[in-house]
Amino acid sequence: MAAPNRLSWSMKKVLESREVFHELQAMHMLHSAVFSIRRLYLQMQGEHEHVRWKRIVCNNKASPKTLFVTWLILHGRIATKDRLFSWGVTVDNCCPLCNATCEIISHLFFECTFSQSIWTVCQRHLKVVVIRRQFDEEIHAVAMKSKRKGAIAQLYCMMFVEAMYQIWLQRTAKIYGGIVLNTEANYRQICFRVASIFNDDIRQLLIC
Ligand SMILES: [Zn+2]
Repeated sequence: MAAPNRLSWSMKKVLESREVFHELQAMHMLHSAVFSIRRLYLQMQGEHEHVRWKRIVCNNKASPKTLFVTWLILHGRIATKDRLFSWGVTVDNCCPLCNATCEIISHLFFECTFSQSIWTVCQRHLKVVVIRRQFDEEIHAVAMKSKRKGAIAQLYCMMFVEAMYQIWLQRTAKIYGGIVLNTEANYRQICFRVASIFNDDIRQLLIC
């Protein structure tokens, strides 16, 4: 039965929740001896496959802005030029950082020479063997590291998301006529954001 229009939105939500209960066949929960909101919540969520990069975002101490951009990138929802072009928002789909090819997510992170140099410098400072990987493979490698608990793993995951954020800022700056920094200056900005979050012990890892 539809909720009457004259009711406030909160009352409509309360009445509409009956439909949710019926859809989930969860009425028996109300009549059981112990009602569990957790059980109801899990039933409402349903069965979903866990995304392998979950810990890159969830176990990360980076700023909300950085994590939001990371989340959009990992979901393939960041507004790269190929997407804007397909929506008819722009007539130019060229990568603004290298002007060599179409700007798609896998190019921007990290096939583009500009982006590649930033991530390579970050990896070298972390004393990681630099291996050129496709976007999906890189995400997989960072996701594997995010399962570890040590300081280096935490640092690596945070550098990774901050590097992507920095590249996104630089790409946007280039489009709107802002200042585009060189690789070393980009690395310093990434380091500054990372160092401002971690304690002295982990900060030391950045300067040794
Ligand atoms: Zn490029």
